[in-house]
Amino acid sequence: MKIIKCFLIFMFFAKGFANAGTPKKIITNISNINSLSLTFDDGPDEIWTPKILDILKNNNVKATFFVVGFFVDKYPEIVKQIVKDGHEIGVHTYTHPLLTKVSASVVASEIQKTINAIHNILPDYEIKLFRAPYGAMNDKIKEIVKQFGLKPVWWDIDTEDWKQSSSALTIKNAIYASRYKVGIVLMHDGIDAPTMLVKMGVIHNTKLNPEIRQNKKNVVKFLKVYLPSLKKDYLIEELIGV
Ligand SMILES: [Zn+2]
Repeated sequence: MKIIKCFLIFMFFAKGFANAGTPKKIITNISNINSLSLTFDDGPDEIWTPKILDILKNNNVKATFFVVGFFVDKYPEIVKQIVKDGHEIGVHTYTHPLLTKVSASVVASEIQKTINAIHNILPDYEIKLFRAPYGAMNDKIKEIVKQFGLKPVWWDIDTEDWKQSSSALTIKNAIYASRYKVGIVLMHDGIDAPTMLVKMGVIHNTKLNPEIRQNKKNVVKFLKVYLPSLKKDYLIEELIGV
């Protein structure tokens, strides 16, 4: 049984590196079968990110925020706070395009602009991680990401917190129902980046998903209500770039 568990853990670590060369080290410091890493995409958001940061701080939990460059430029103080609180920041592109549908030069510029946005605020911050919008990657994109010195990160547990029907309970259940009982948890601190960018007039002609939740009360409530017990049931460890 132990060997099977080890194999599953190996598969978990290995899948993030498929086609990305042989990893020298694993990407996380997850060391326990009952470990989780919490990740938040699509922020920073002026309303929801500070609320999430407060709860994480109260529970002494560190997480990883995959930020959208446009919002980094818009809300620099929140980005500073994320790092000040000891969390990790990764790149989630500048305007959240589906990278498999754009040219290589657009992929590179989306990454570069986000790195620039972060470094404008935090010049010495070493950015290590990348998560593609929608998790959409191919070999060409992986190569570009690698050229920026970033490690691509996917997720193991999709809480589907972006859905209108999502609640604190469905997020909790998604985590506890995970068959691996270990892994990277996907949540969002921003309300669907494309929706926000269309509202702000930054991008156009994007088909918006009507299923999108218009607030992140579900995530805030999940963290408020369940994070203390989650901490008892799991070791919550941050992702570390290597
Ligand atoms: Zn996203």
